[in-house]
Amino acid sequence: MAKPLTDHDKRKQISVRGLAGVENVADLKTNFNRHLHFTLVKDRNVATKRDYYFALANTVRDHLVGRWIRTQQHYYEKDPKRVYYISLEFYMGRTLQNTMVNLALENACDEATYQLGLDMEELQDIEEDAGLGNGGLGRLAACFLDSMATLGLAAYGYGIRYEFGIFNQKIVNGWQVEEADDWLRYGNPWEKARPEYMRPVHFYGRVEHTDEGVKWVDTQVVLALPYDTPVPGYRNNIVNTMRLWSAKAPCDFNLKDFNVGGYIQAVLDRNLAENISRVLYPNDNFFEGKELRLKQEYFVVAATLQDIIRRFKASKFGSTEFVAIQLNDTHPALAIPEMMRILVDVEKLLWDQAWDIVVHTCAYTNHTVLPEALERWPVDLFHNLLPRHLEIIYEINRRHLERIGKLYPGDMDRLRRMSLIEEGNVKKINMAHLCIVGSHAVNGVALMCNMNIVPPWPCLTSYIVYSSLSVTFLSFLWSSIATPVVFHSLSVFDTCPESFQAAPGYHTAKMIIRLITAIGDIVNNDPIVGDRLKVIFLENYRVTLAEKIIPASDLSEQISTAGTEASGTGNMKFMLNGALTIGTMDGANVEMAEEAGEENLFIFGMRVPDVEAMDKKGYDAMSYYNRIPELKQAMDQISGGFFSPNQADLFKDLVSMLMHHDRFKVFADYEDYIKCQDKVSALYKNPKEWTKKVIHNIAGSGKFSSDRTISQYAREIWDMEPSLEKIAAPDDPR
Ligand SMILES: *Cc1c(COP(=O)(O)O)cnc(C)c1O
Repeated sequence: MAKPLTDHDKRKQISVRGLAGVENVADLKTNFNRHLHFTLVKDRNVATKRDYYFALANTVRDHLVGRWIRTQQHYYEKDPKRVYYISLEFYMGRTLQNTMVNLALENACDEATYQLGLDMEELQDIEEDAGLGNGGLGRLAACFLDSMATLGLAAYGYGIRYEFGIFNQKIVNGWQVEEADDWLRYGNPWEKARPEYMRPVHFYGRVEHTDEGVKWVDTQVVLALPYDTPVPGYRNNIVNTMRLWSAKAPCDFNLKDFNVGGYIQAVLDRNLAENISRVLYPNDNFFEGKELRLKQEYFVVAATLQDIIRRFKASKFGSTEFVAIQLNDTHPALAIPEMMRILVDVEKLLWDQAWDIVVHTCAYTNHTVLPEALERWPVDLFHNLLPRHLEIIYEINRRHLERIGKLYPGDMDRLRRMSLIEEGNVKKINMAHLCIVGSHAVNGVALMCNMNIVPPWPCLTSYIVYSSLSVTFLSFLWSSIATPVVFHSLSVFDTCPESFQAAPGYHTAKMIIRLITAIGDIVNNDPIVGDRLKVIFLENYRVTLAEKIIPASDLSEQISTAGTEASGTGNMKFMLNGALTIGTMDGANVEMAEEAGEENLFIFGMRVPDVEAMDKKGYDAMSYYNRIPELKQAMDQISGGFFSPNQADLFKDLVSMLMHHDRFKVFADYEDYIKCQDKVSALYKNPKEWTKKVIHNIAGSGKFSSDRTISQYAREIWDMEPSLEKIAAPDDPR
């Protein structure tokens, strides 16, 4: 009788990646055992699964080292134009599999671990996600690093090495509970600390204007300690660097000037300085004007610019045209005044010379038009924390308004609208305006030419993709939910990942999550509904979960009110992976419809002009509630406690919000949405027609590749030429 196939056998059978070289496998086994012994200091009697993961990770990492060093040598010798991608977020997820794929090591590692009696997938599952991002903006940065390496660009990602990334979401009695993401607890095999490149970053203090120029003095210093992570290109032997800064207190912190509490207190207070890189702010599309966040934003920019300038001064050609800086949203906007400070105060350039360099170097990517997300920092906060930068921003604004005044004489309203400083009860700095004025190129993550701030600017579009992973979603689902539920093979996996995870304190989002779990409790136990419909809230959405959900989905819901989603990138991932989209004409849905044909998406609801017209006329939620019996019944059930029998008024406020002050006007799209869902259901019964649309979608999704996007950034923003050429491979480790 034939033995049943193991997972390993199946992977080997379906593999289209070619056979693993025999020598390669033997070397991998040797190196795995060497790492288990010398790096992890374990033998196989006492080694844990985690030890085996680390042994495998270190084995794979060894294959990066030669390529990494060679790539950096190559850049040093050739001295190509450098591009610096500065971002407060890099949502990387796991590294092991991506590295094996890019270095063509996956089959050999699978075979080697198998021969050692281990299951590679089980080991891969031990890796923590690097969750240094909230969502689309952070994932975009991660995909861009990947594509920049694949396209042979001399690129660097610069950010913060948060000790705690995006929180882990637990659902407890239906409610979201946040847990600290202690991702570094067991160590990170992919990073290399570089204490020799530590840099000082200054805060507070005061400004002295003297005959020799301007001095920023009496500052407090925090050190920025860099950690480097390799970024391999796809099978081209290029390995770029992501450099993340960690905050370190200097040895004399609080001793010299503030030695009131004495030595012990001074050592304990080192935490205050080191808190700068402690935790990622879990705000997606929301501005929270906290001083610690402003410190983070300056910290990354100040440390990074010192690095950029050091590398520039060491370069052969020494031309400022050979440096490009891309700002991922306004979060690193301080790069503009910081570069001015260095060039004018330290390097003693004239203002106009310095400004010319800054504008030609910097470019800015806008991510949102939602007013609550726009960074507007109180001037007072700046005055205290970064007094010299405030002066510089005032001078930038003075010159900017002088120019606008000459272009539009007498147009006072325009001056007020375009000023970097917003007057009012609390004076604020508009960081988007600062970025627009200080950049030579501004792009949005999707079509947003109607933003109406400073016309004209180039209107590129940018996209990201996932490499689709062949993960069997059903088996994952089975193993990850507490109460097994039966799925029919014809079930539609209808996924709506929007607002899966609510930032703590964001009350409405948390109540929506509670409502979903409450509906699940009722629907999943309803004898009449039976097994026909199940509502399951998959907790802790993150890169690793997205990689499983997205390829397994049939229908992707992208249902934001038109004009509120700048882009969306989840929608593109679903499209590329064979889901159909039900969505509004918003964000990138518009371009997906363009590429695949509108008839191959399920488009419903108001268009942007409809929404604008409704804004003028006034939105009356009650009129929909009174006219549509089904909607009325649903709202009455929710607010009346049908889904919360133990606490009838639990969702009263949520329903009241929908009826009386819903900024997103969701009732206005309700009827059309239901009609459209009926079309979805009808088509799903016709697999041939459904599949036809799927094929049109996949075929039309090519534009949404981050490689395509980065090629366009390279040519149109950075004046660089992307290339698919390989560099020479080093001899791999023995
Ligand atoms: C792509 C992605 C996002 C962004 O999704 P949107 O639907 O565009 O908001 C958020 N989180 C993860 C883990 C992602 O992979």
